[in-house]
Amino acid sequence: MTEACPVLPQRGPVRPLGLARVSIAGGFWGGRQAVNAAATLAHCEEWMERLGWLANFDRVADGTTGPDRPGWPFSDSEVYKLLEALAWESGRTGDPEAEAAIKRLTARVARAQDQDGYLNTCFGHGEQAPRYSDLEGGHELYNLGHLMQAAVARVRTHGEDDLVRLARRAADHVCRTFGPGERAGICGHPEIEVGLAELGRALGEERYVEQARLFLDRRGHGTLRDIPLGRAYFQDDVPIREAAVWRGHAVRALYLTAAAVDVAVERGDDELLGAVERQWERSVARRTYITGGMGSRHQDEGFGEDWELPPDRAYCETCAGVASIMVSWRLYLATGDVRYTDLIERTLYNVIATSPSPDGRAFFYANPLHQRAPGRASDDGEVSPRAEGGTRAAWFDVSCCPTNVARTLASLECYLAAASDDGLQIHQYAPSTVRAELPDGRRVAVEVETGYPETGTVRVRIASDEAAPWTLALRVPAWAAGATLTEGGRTRPVDPGLVEVRRAFRAGEVVTLELPVRPRITWPDPRIDAVRGCVAVERGPEVLCAESVDLPHPGGLDALVIDPHSDPREDSGGARVRARLRPRAGTTADVGGGWSYLAARPDAAGDAAEWFEVPLRPYHSWAQRGPSSMRVWLPIHE
Ligand SMILES: [Zn+2]
Repeated sequence: MTEACPVLPQRGPVRPLGLARVSIAGGFWGGRQAVNAAATLAHCEEWMERLGWLANFDRVADGTTGPDRPGWPFSDSEVYKLLEALAWESGRTGDPEAEAAIKRLTARVARAQDQDGYLNTCFGHGEQAPRYSDLEGGHELYNLGHLMQAAVARVRTHGEDDLVRLARRAADHVCRTFGPGERAGICGHPEIEVGLAELGRALGEERYVEQARLFLDRRGHGTLRDIPLGRAYFQDDVPIREAAVWRGHAVRALYLTAAAVDVAVERGDDELLGAVERQWERSVARRTYITGGMGSRHQDEGFGEDWELPPDRAYCETCAGVASIMVSWRLYLATGDVRYTDLIERTLYNVIATSPSPDGRAFFYANPLHQRAPGRASDDGEVSPRAEGGTRAAWFDVSCCPTNVARTLASLECYLAAASDDGLQIHQYAPSTVRAELPDGRRVAVEVETGYPETGTVRVRIASDEAAPWTLALRVPAWAAGATLTEGGRTRPVDPGLVEVRRAFRAGEVVTLELPVRPRITWPDPRIDAVRGCVAVERGPEVLCAESVDLPHPGGLDALVIDPHSDPREDSGGARVRARLRPRAGTTADVGGGWSYLAARPDAAGDAAEWFEVPLRPYHSWAQRGPSSMRVWLPIHE
């Protein structure tokens, strides 16, 4: 049986486990998946109907479209990402509404496909600009990449149907148009590469993987026109094999990198895989926020220089979080290295979980780590014209993030665990069941019971009887110093990394991992200038933050300093930290018309200020109690 999962390499030290083998029952992620299924999927379809993004397909089919078409050139991709989310959801739960939506949307998309497989609502019909006349900004191949990922979800959860067939025709069209000896173009926004590579795997079409390789190798040679932001914006400045670090538009860089891992693995191209691993290392070490967020610059939605990680101007697009998980999961499957699943955990709890509102009908696009002024209360019926705003919005003018969250949550089971040659590895902890078939045909299964991340106890109950030994491996996160493992009546300390228990397990046996999720203080590398003199507080995998709504007076957040030498106290899933409101005095900036810069170091005023305990809440829940100002990095009391 093929695995129903987004990434299925032909080789690697570990094998992914799909929806038929892993299920989540409640808990932190189960609740979010339920909201995604019950609210977000329909919400996305309603908005795309309301804005005419769906009708764009009808107008192409009816011959009535033109240059006045509503939506950006990439709005087709939102329909495809929703189709992908629906396909995972239908495969995950058998939800008849998801199944009906797949058929409804596929029928409309299929009518718009040209005879030769070309499919796009913005180019090539009526008075519109000709096909592929703007590879830099037109997003035609980008859109098709998302269609292919939707088809991968469908063929692996359901089998070949109209959606898969139309993606196959589109892929054939792309190979004919951009194949060897044909037009040597690439798309300004990578995505076709990762779509082609996986569709090639899913359908056994080697040509598609080869076309992905061609697109990858054409990039980085100034293939696209130069633009004011420079060719680094779309990673056409340096070939991916030679690049040292991620740069330019973060989502583009990461989608491209995901495809590079796929191609490297399929081709046994260790040089390419090594290049990507080095890029991951440096970019994660120097260009990534404590939340796992990526992208420091608003002007190009892009990475900054090394150490350029301002908290208030952090962009950290939700889609970049999704794309970072795509990259890290592929690198884990290619190497078995647990540091990749560590970053996935950080990104899941602090970027993916942050975006949707509890009702699943509003989203963060940008995810700054410091909101200086409370945002405006958002209007459920309004399209937000911008990515940042300090409150979650129902929909955006550029609305890439909601459908990206939806497809990630609908396929989340696929990122929890994997099979090794000798057993099971569990990487993300949720109330769940995990089953696997080992290469020798043995079937092993476990049930995970946990209240993680609120509590750090993870009980893994063996649900299979095997006479021969096998290995159960559990990830101990890098932050979890002091973790312990209990099995067979013995408790021992375990270090971060993969902890393995190997024996002939009997059904009903329990292995318990105890992760110390108590709040802890985290210091930044001093080279991150923007947060020098500050610390953050984390609890388990969650980054915490202070919010203005929890402070004694509205301007309190600017004056807040904390005592980094007193241990943060546990406080129902968050923390309390010793703090003071102690503004720096001596500048005249506060009185208006003043000046913020002095000839001498300003004195700290307010020594008489009372110490109190400031409550810190998980960052992913910020702005859920109305607009607020917020900060993750807290200045320390000197
Ligand atoms: Zn986005």
